[in-house]
Amino acid sequence: MLPARKLGLVRKQLLAWFRQFQRDLPWRRTRDPYRIWLSEIMLQQTRVAAVIPYYERFLERFPDVRALAEAPQEEVLRLWSGLGYYSRARNLQRAAQEIVAKYHGKFPRDFDEALALPGVGQYTAAAILSIAYGAKHAVLDGNVARVLARLGAIRGGLHEAKRWRELRERADTLLDPKSPGEWNQAMMELGAVVCTPRAPQCFLCPIAKFCRARQLGLADRLPEKRKKRATEEVTLAAAVFLDPRGRTFLLPPSTLKTRRATKNEIAPLVSKMWHFPTVRVRKHAAGELQSFLAELIPAVANHGVRLEPLSEARHAVTYRKITLLPFRATLAALPAVSCAKVVALTDVSSLSSLAVSNLTRKIARAALVPRAAAAAAR
Ligand code: SF4
Repeated sequence: MLPARKLGLVRKQLLAWFRQFQRDLPWRRTRDPYRIWLSEIMLQQTRVAAVIPYYERFLERFPDVRALAEAPQEEVLRLWSGLGYYSRARNLQRAAQEIVAKYHGKFPRDFDEALALPGVGQYTAAAILSIAYGAKHAVLDGNVARVLARLGAIRGGLHEAKRWRELRERADTLLDPKSPGEWNQAMMELGAVVCTPRAPQCFLCPIAKFCRARQLGLADRLPEKRKKRATEEVTLAAAVFLDPRGRTFLLPPSTLKTRRATKNEIAPLVSKMWHFPTVRVRKHAAGELQSFLAELIPAVANHGVRLEPLSEARHAVTYRKITLLPFRATLAALPAVSCAKVVALTDVSSLSSLAVSNLTRKIARAALVPRAAAAAAR
């Protein structure tokens, strides 16, 4: 590790760079732990530019922990809709309820208490407590780990337990005890804009002269790649029922009461939000969807339904690559389906009264393409 004098210089130079060049982001203008917490959760797996409008809309509707704790979950999900990884929103609200119940609406200052909140891991707890309260906890996520691995020219997979522990020790040693919140943000900023995963811009780096990877000519070869989880191909068929008034229905998020309405294996992909009747198919999409609908809807079981194939769409969720095969079923009247909600399908935004995922939006978009255009696209 660096001797004390060099350590002091690294801290001084990185902080000076951060103070001068940091991006002006809405969550950097506050020390309110609620706002910092919200930004940290939204930023998980999501780009800064995508987060900003969601962050601002969310805060307009839920300006503090109590407003979030008391809101209907449906509304929280609706405002999250499009940002993906919806368990983040559910956990956020559960944590808000816990903060109101146990901590009088104030985000806890104690690290272990913060860590015990739903959806708050080591990184998030360290980020919130250091930025909001000035607590001395160093952050360590993939972004910061990459910077540390390059600074120390650390080889091997960073996520191996032993190496991660080593990185944690390095992060703790580097942390500036006088400005831990600012230091953590400076490390994150360096990783986000200069020491990027590909083609790090070492010529702009404020701490380049302390970087071992740069000295060894290894900057763009570290960290070493880890093996990716194999991609799973999934095909889903979905039915969009339409009546002559352009109305359709969606099935509710899965609950014990409604679980039969969605095959469990696709539950994580669609059924935690409002969704069209959807089933995983293997060979004969229309036939398998027909059988699924017959189980779900008595009228379809009795008379069948004509399924008109629409344009395919693609979707990806973590390691799953999904092919979506939407079908339109035009009927004189929508069938009665327990717990379903009827909505007008005039455009994709007409679904915005419900919490829906991007997958459902893609299916809706396919159903809105006029028949001739859909036929030409097939
Ligand atoms: S010199 Fe290059 S590799 Fe090293 S920390 Fe700076 S940007 Fe990253």
